Amino acid sequence: MNKKNKTSFRFAIITSLLLTLTLTLILSVFLFSHDSIDLKGTILWVVLCFTCSFVILQLRLEKFIFKRLKRIYDDLTNLDSTPFAQQQILMDMDDLTAEIDNYAKTKKLEIETLKVREAYRKDFIGNIAHELKTPLFTVQGYISTLLDGAADNPEIRTKYLTRADKGVDRLIYIVKDLDMITKLEVGDVNLEMQNFDIIELIKNVFDLLEIKAQKKEISLALDKAYLNPILVHADQQRIQQVLTNLIVNSIKYGHKNGTTEVSVDTEHDQKVTINIADNGEGIHQSHLPRIFERFYRVDKSGSRKVGGSGLGLSIVKHIIEAHDEKIYVVSKFGIGSEFSFTLQKAQN
Ligand code: ADP
Repeated sequence: MNKKNKTSFRFAIITSLLLTLTLTLILSVFLFSHDSIDLKGTILWVVLCFTCSFVILQLRLEKFIFKRLKRIYDDLTNLDSTPFAQQQILMDMDDLTAEIDNYAKTKKLEIETLKVREAYRKDFIGNIAHELKTPLFTVQGYISTLLDGAADNPEIRTKYLTRADKGVDRLIYIVKDLDMITKLEVGDVNLEMQNFDIIELIKNVFDLLEIKAQKKEISLALDKAYLNPILVHADQQRIQQVLTNLIVNSIKYGHKNGTTEVSVDTEHDQKVTINIADNGEGIHQSHLPRIFERFYRVDKSGSRKVGGSGLGLSIVKHIIEAHDEKIYVVSKFGIGSEFSFTLQKAQN
């Protein structure tokens, strides 16, 4: 522990002065009463008294206080990354108090950050358990019923096995979303950037979701015929996931016979904006700031009916932010919603 000490003489000087003053006063009264006061002798006494007091006090202070302070510094330095590690030992009490204050504040901040992280972790685990519980119990219920004899009836057997299978599908869906959100949250995303035609990708996603949309009689369309390709620079797989999540939501929260319209705006020099608009149920203003939070649902019971994990928009936001791009939402309750995100134009 190679620390220098910054010595302060203030305490020793002031205490020596007080001692000298007190002793001189006592001595003067004594000499005065014996009528033998002598100016030269008194000055010599003052000088001697002050010097001796100062030297003794300073030596004792350094020996005892410095030793103890050094031990405190060493103890603190042994705790990780303390702000004292690189500093000199202070013998001045004001500096030392300020230093300890500063240390306490840093530690308090660290503790608060840890508490927030701990709450976040508990919350995350609680949400996962909650999400997995329902489909797991459903599957367990069907299997137990089958084992208890329902399997003998071929009709019921098929019906229950199909339902159990659906439950397993839902479990897989949630686990996949969880896996993705965990990777995105720890920043474990390697984007495979490439140039591709965003119009073609949107059409592919439309094709993949056609049956889902038809079931709700919702039409998926581009706002106009895009005759030329629009090349963007991004991770194609991840952007396909973004488009899928947003379009799936427009179907889930859309009305029967509704429309999902996608448009691509190329006005900006460097950026392309992709808009996904629907005329579905819309989102109330008060929920808008929170819909990108993981597990956040506007209407818990309602959303559960349409089978979301509450992670879709959170995944979308993480992917867009990993690209250093932005996502926006405008929505009117009862009228519809429009989600927009930007992407980098491909450089020619
Ligand atoms: P979920 O799995 O519940 O769909 P999301 O993260 O995808 O989770 O969405 C969060 C919530 O935002 C949804 O529960 C829903 O209430 C609301 N939401 C998302 N997209 C739309 C939309 N297009 N129209 C209306 N509400 C939407």
